[in-house]
Amino acid sequence: MSIRRPKENMMARFKAKCEEHGLKITPQRTVIYEEAFRSKAHPTANAIYEKVRIKLPNISFDTVNRTLISFSRLGILDIVEGYGDPRRYDPDLSPHHHFRCVQCARIIDFYEKSFDLIDIPEKISKMFKVTDKKVVLKGICDKCQNSKT
Ligand SMILES: [Zn+2]
Ligand SMILES: [Zn+2]
Repeated sequence: MSIRRPKENMMARFKAKCEEHGLKITPQRTVIYEEAFRSKAHPTANAIYEKVRIKLPNISFDTVNRTLISFSRLGILDIVEGYGDPRRYDPDLSPHHHFRCVQCARIIDFYEKSFDLIDIPEKISKMFKVTDKKVVLKGICDKCQNSKT
């Protein structure tokens, strides 16, 4: 099982997606995307805002939040499934799966070919158009296990 993120040029993909949807590539949008992408922790809008603010002190939370929502609508970012509020964003659109720690709420990406190959049940594929498959494993992460005495 590989836990590494496959190499991909994320900035090039961001630009291509923006062009595809006629979204102007402003410095503001670029910084928001960069910060969302830099975090490996499936960040909330608030966590991204805190980072963006360092570079763009005058930006409002609302602007960051709205930009993230429009990114997710255009398929530039993913929203982590089933997490509820606050939303958590995922910049990695390549096939991958999640391990979710029930104690510290960390979400860790992992890559596993056999999970990518899971068949969609026919009753589902007949009814719905499936665009993504994700396996979510839940449990206690390595850090939380180690901090237990
Ligand atoms: Zn944990
Ligand atoms: Zn992920």
